[in-house]
Amino acid sequence: MKNYKMYIGGEWVESLSGESFETKNPFTGEAWATLPRGNADDANRAVAAAQRAFEDGEWASMTASQRGQLLRRLGDLIADNVDVLAKTEVADNGKLLAEMRGQVNYLPQYFYYFGGLADKVEGGVLPIDKKDTFTFTRYEPLGVCVAITAWNSPLLLAVNKLAPGLAAGNTFVLKPSEFTSASALEFAKLVEKAGFPAGVVNVVTGFGLEVGEPLVNHPDVQKIAFTGSEMGGQKIYEAAARNLKKVTLELGGKSPNIVFDDANLDNAVKGVVGGIMAATGQTCVAGSRLLVQESIHDEFVDKLLAFASTAKMGDPMLSTTQVGPVTTPQQYQKILDYIAIAKDEGAICRLGGKASTAPECGNGLFVEPTIFTGVHNKMRIAQEEVFGPVLSIIPFKDEADAIRIANDSLYGLAAGVWTQSMRRGLLMSEKLQAGMVWVNMYRAVSYMAPFGGYKRSGVGHENGQDAIYAYLKTKSVWFSTALHTPDPFVLG
Ligand code: NAD
Repeated sequence: MKNYKMYIGGEWVESLSGESFETKNPFTGEAWATLPRGNADDANRAVAAAQRAFEDGEWASMTASQRGQLLRRLGDLIADNVDVLAKTEVADNGKLLAEMRGQVNYLPQYFYYFGGLADKVEGGVLPIDKKDTFTFTRYEPLGVCVAITAWNSPLLLAVNKLAPGLAAGNTFVLKPSEFTSASALEFAKLVEKAGFPAGVVNVVTGFGLEVGEPLVNHPDVQKIAFTGSEMGGQKIYEAAARNLKKVTLELGGKSPNIVFDDANLDNAVKGVVGGIMAATGQTCVAGSRLLVQESIHDEFVDKLLAFASTAKMGDPMLSTTQVGPVTTPQQYQKILDYIAIAKDEGAICRLGGKASTAPECGNGLFVEPTIFTGVHNKMRIAQEEVFGPVLSIIPFKDEADAIRIANDSLYGLAAGVWTQSMRRGLLMSEKLQAGMVWVNMYRAVSYMAPFGGYKRSGVGHENGQDAIYAYLKTKSVWFSTALHTPDPFVLG
């Protein structure tokens, strides 16, 4: 059993209450580490450390180029420690080692990219419409930012926030999900090793209501960057509004993956299965609604079932496994409940539809890859986020019908389109109400491209050059070059 400590003000500490909690491996079902159970006192301690680091000391006096250098050093250290970070994530969230390795391997790029951007934030001299006046803009960091993350891609979600936010000169308190906190503490070891001054990055562990909420409510916190459920996002938005704090909210989705009759069907099958079965469907951008053009519906469904039924469940550490366990018991129950709801609503279960207790599934909580046909877009299974390997297939007639069904959702995170027509791909990319549209591909993300949701899927964006401005405030500075101040009663 490993015993982790939190990282606050450059020190490794227990919670002030002395309480801790266990984290379990979703495949073995066994607790493998203990973590400090933080509360409001720990939140206060972490914010105070971050505030101190922001206001004075080494970090506050660093140039943007020096900050960029530190970020790049951290990127190098992550690259040297991919294996330990990825294995820690698998132990906590049960996702495939291959996927977590791929994700962690990619994280250094975020630090290189935003580290490079740190000293390229330029204000402007404005050609102002007033005589004898010199006006320019400057960008300034916000101060203490709180990053709160979900359990499905723990480090990626944290890095999406920390890389641009640190590049901009802020300090952070990171609160990872209570289900997957260990990798954030492994990451904090690298932050320390890279030489970040004490208090610039703090990691507190514990539960949302016990330590997350006090962080969100803390008066010295300027911004909350949150990834999680719609309900969690609403609570945080409300709390932030009371103090008019800035927020970025990355929330859930019910993303459509749309297959037209002119698509390369073999490619589309792979994209559809990858979009919903990869990560056991526990991904915000899961393509959980499959819209298939009526003229190819039966042919495509047959191909899809043939391919999806070969998916191998099992130990996420094995390279042969394609579908791992569900991360938490709550999520497992939720998925099974939605399968029951779909059946009650009259959807036809064509694959899976139940939990798996096959020997290769060990003690893990496994749900078989599940596919429903006969789904109507008004059904709950087509409207509500399941966050599991459950696909609902909805037929459509033509482009207009596909657009209508796809957009008939409270969410708008992502959408996929499969077609060989350039015109159709461009039309759909324009008409679909989603923050990311993929044509003839699915589930691609990059530090270079904005990521964020329309409608109830979120507020603001992460990634891409603009992400750094989500951690900066703009100031206009005015100089008079006139010898005499004009008449004070006339605004000039
Ligand atoms: P969640 O909302 O239950 O928890 C997310 C985080 O918020 C956790 O760290 C939790 O401890 C904390 N939290 C909960 N209530 C809080 C409160 N009142 N104050 C402060 N902190 C609080 O979400 P989850 O179950 O961990 O994650 C799954 C959800 O995340 C899904 O809906 C998924 O779509 C979404 N998600 C979105 C993205 C995206 O980028 N859009 C990415 C991954 C996951």
